Amino acid sequence: MKDCIFCKIASGEIPSTKIVDEEKFFIIKDIHPKALKHFLLITKEHYALLENQSEKQASEFGEILASIHKYEKILGIENGFSLRINQKAGGGQEIAHLHVHILADY
Ligand code: AMP
Ligand code: ZN
Repeated sequence: MKDCIFCKIASGEIPSTKIVDEEKFFIIKDIHPKALKHFLLITKEHYALLENQSEKQASEFGEILASIHKYEKILGIENGFSLRINQKAGGGQEIAHLHVHILADY
């Protein structure tokens, strides 16, 4: 999607260090961390909101969420973490491309 910063990061148009780079998503460090450890899991496909997902995308997204624990070691969050998905302006969403905040203070 044109003018979407996360699509540009996904395509490499904006350079980034992808700590994890999988078929459907990647994980980068949040540029303005709100916790000691703050990462963003970003879907490679562009859609703004959970409610915009097709049934197939929703199912794939569920699998992505269930797989996050596999990256605990590489992210250094073995002691625990929290996930946050901001939805729409009232939910604090600034970038209209689905992403999951992965936060840990350990
Ligand atoms: P949200 O408010 O849920 O839309 O979250 C957007 C997040 O993206 C914020 O925590 C920003 O700090 C982060 N962010 C914005 N631009 C970049 C970037 N170029 N690289 C990494 N994180 C970014
Ligand atoms: Zn996008």
